[in-house]
This record gives sequence, C-alpha cells and structure tokens, in this order.
Amino acid sequence: MSSAKNKFPAKGDCLWLNVNLATMAGGNPYGMVKDGVLVVGGSKIAWLGKRADLPEDFKSRIEKTYDGQGGWITPGLVDCHTHLVYAGSRAREFELRLEGATYEEIARQGGGIRSTVSDTRQADEQSLFAQSAPRLQALIQEGVTTVEIKSGYGLDLETELRMLHVARQLGEKYPVTVVPTYLGAHALPPEFEGRSDEYIDLVCNSVMPEVAAQKMAVAVDAFCENIGFTPDQTEKVFQKAQKLGLAIKLHAEQLSDLKGAKLASGYGALSADHLEHVSEEGVKAMAASGTIAVLLPGAFYFLRETRLPPIDLLRRHKVPIALSTDCNPGSSPTTSLLLMLNMACTLFRMTPEEALAGITRNGARALGLEERIGTLEAGKDADFVLWDISEPAELAYRIGFNPLKQVIRHGKLISYSYVSV
Ligand SMILES: [Zn+2]
Repeated sequence: MSSAKNKFPAKGDCLWLNVNLATMAGGNPYGMVKDGVLVVGGSKIAWLGKRADLPEDFKSRIEKTYDGQGGWITPGLVDCHTHLVYAGSRAREFELRLEGATYEEIARQGGGIRSTVSDTRQADEQSLFAQSAPRLQALIQEGVTTVEIKSGYGLDLETELRMLHVARQLGEKYPVTVVPTYLGAHALPPEFEGRSDEYIDLVCNSVMPEVAAQKMAVAVDAFCENIGFTPDQTEKVFQKAQKLGLAIKLHAEQLSDLKGAKLASGYGALSADHLEHVSEEGVKAMAASGTIAVLLPGAFYFLRETRLPPIDLLRRHKVPIALSTDCNPGSSPTTSLLLMLNMACTLFRMTPEEALAGITRNGARALGLEERIGTLEAGKDADFVLWDISEPAELAYRIGFNPLKQVIRHGKLISYSYVSV
C-alpha cells in the first residue's frame, strides 16, 4: 500500500473486484459469495454480490477500483470484551502462578487486579494512553474495526473517568470504533476492604451517575463471582444502570455458578461473558432474553481452566456465541483476535464458521451494534477486511499468522502506519 492510495475521492463510489465475500449474513456457510464485488459509497456499503449481477448504474458511478486478487473480504472484526486500557505489567504474577499460586490465591493476597489498580491510579492520562495504544494498534493490525473497552482498574471516580477518557481518546486518534463500558464492580478497592456493600453504594450513587451524565460509557458491566461481587450486589448495579439508561453486560459463571447469566438476562443484558460454569437454566434464560454468550478462550487458556463452556447447550438453545480477546493483564494478556479464532476451535471445538461469526456478526450483537456492523450488507457501515487467504477457514486454522491485506473503516482505507503485515 502506498500512501497515495490511502485517500478516497470525496465523491463517487469505490469498488472491490476479484474478491470472494464472507458476508456472514446467512443464506449459506459464511454467507459466501464467490467471484464477488463490493461497492462502497461514502462510509457505507452501497452494493455487494456476484460480479455478473453488478447493476449498470453502479458501473458508471465507480471512481476507483481495487483488485482483490482473489482474496477474501470479511466484515471488520469486532472485539467485544476488552480491558485494554491499564498501566503496568503482570509478568511477575505470571511467574508466581508458574511457581504454584492459583488465580484466587493471588487475588485474595491483594495481588492480581489490585496491583493493576495501583499502577493505573498512579498513571496520568498521557501515560495511560501511551501504555494502552500499542495494544489497540495490535488489534487494528489484525483487522479489528470495533473494540469494546472497559474501565475497572481505577475503582474510584477520578481514575474510572480517566480510563474512560483514554478509551475515548484512543477512538479519536486511531481508525477504530471504541465502545466504552463502565466496570466499576470489577474488584473491591483496598480502601473498602471488608465493606463491599459500601463500595457498591459508591458505584451506584456516585460514580455511575457521573459516568452517565458525562456520557463516558454506553454500558455497565460487573464481575459476579466468589472473588468478585455477589448476585445481590450485582443486581443493585443493574437496577441503577437501567434507571440511567445504560446497557448491561456481565462477567458471569467464569469460576463458579452464581446464576449470574440468569440474573443478567432478567435485566435484558446484551451479553453474559465467560460462562464456563453456566447451567442449562442460565442458557435458557439467555435464549429467552436474546442475551449473547461471549466466550473468552484466551482467559480459559491462560488460566489453564479445564471446565469447557457448554457449547452444545448454547447451540441447542440457539444462543448466539461471540468471541473476544478479553485483553487484560491478569488472565488474558493477548491482543490477537485471530488467535482467539484458533483457540475457540481447538479448545472449545467450535467450527471455523461459528468462530468467525463470533468476531463479526455476534460480536456486533454483543455490543448492540448489529444494525450498523458485523455483516457485509448494503446500507451497513463500510467496515471490512481483505485477506490473502484461499478459504475462510484459513483464518481459524493457522496459528500466529496474519494474512491481512487491507482494512477499510467507514469507507476509508486505513493508512499503512496502522497496518503493517
Ligand atoms: Zn473481562
């Protein structure tokens, strides 16, 4: 890609030719269109389909044509669950775990999340941005055009707002759509030791209203777990979020079954995430409320979990499955969504098509953005990726390989400085 190619004409349509399309919009596996054409008008997909069916009036409007050289176009990738804004490193904790300590032991000893809280509280906005940007850039280099970013390492008003502000700035400085989530109920801050109900009061009565008033987040999340917050405390968070008009998500059933998925579904949650220990009752509740299952194979792998999320139950009850990096310093220090595709297939036995749907169509649904992104359809945002692959399964099949050729977001080719493969 030369820099001269990075600017589209202000008017007129652009066309991708000699491409195969994995629209992920149904109809057949991958929503596949062989020898296809994709036309972009402004920031939207104007038309797509078989080359032979391209309408005459489109042909006359085309101002620029790209030859895809037989590659595949997929929707822009959606990473729907990340904690990528944080300061510091947890490499030492990684070492400790290898010396025998468990995740729960480290958390109970005040390590784990709390050490990141301490580092993040001490980092000013500039430092937090500088430490987080390379993680975002790594995602973009693999075709991510939409990323959710959670707060939750500040746990006080000032630092939570700072994290969300950095998330917003990242979305302004980089060619990616950032969806911010307030995760106040992530861990108990040290100054509230033994007073978790009081901390939840702070989340609900002080921080969340301010986050909502400043429009710093579109959703609220919580960590419902024995080492996190109880279902009753989680429900208080949901009730307040509902009053403030914020969408709901939940870290549920990662380490035990506290019936968090059912609780979240009762509040119409967009997603319940992790779910290794979810019961059939929880899955049924998710199906009834249209709540998306977000599976996080990176955390499963890194924590060396053995209890698999119930893929067959999710399939049987037709709960859509999304996949995400869960990019975070403690349990999933990855910035590769392509690697998550492979892990979902090898560890969870998902099919490559299910896995790709998990980081496109269903990732979009987990963020409530399915009207705009997640599939290749006329009228949707022109967010898509051109890959140098011979079939879609290659994206999940290969390990540690990035066949990306182009990323297009809102109709614009992302400049070479953000994409180098
Ligand atoms: Zn998470």
